[in-house]
Amino acid sequence: MKYVYDDQNIFAKILRGEIPNQTVFENAHTLAFRDINAQAPVHILVIPKGPYMSLDHFARDASDDELVGFMKAVAEVCRLEGVDAGFRAVANSREDGVQDVPHYHLHILAGRNLGPMLVGQT
Ligand code: 5GP
Repeated sequence: MKYVYDDQNIFAKILRGEIPNQTVFENAHTLAFRDINAQAPVHILVIPKGPYMSLDHFARDASDDELVGFMKAVAEVCRLEGVDAGFRAVANSREDGVQDVPHYHLHILAGRNLGPMLVGQT
């Protein structure tokens, strides 16, 4: 798989400070902010600061520090948002995964019962 990163995507613009965001947590390699179109009472997007287009791209090419920083940020978001009753983490990836923004992001959804994971045809 050849990964080509488009640095004009909306999350790249957020990382450059060109578009505002509601930051929940930040560390050296990771930013977490509220989704602009929340699908649940808690809907946070966790993104690496590096130029990775999808989960598999990040998993393949990120440094150990980036990988650890990302997972620690997920833990901090869960702690800060108090998702003790549970949550769902989703990484839509490329065409079939219906990924709209081509910068890797993990959706953290919580605050209500989220129902079955997928609805519709198999
Ligand atoms: P995807 O479909 O790529 O997995 O999800 C992209 C997410 O980014 C969507 O949930 C959408 O609401 C969110 N989003 C798109 N543009 C912006 C924006 O400018 N700011 C924020 N905070 N979220 C955005």
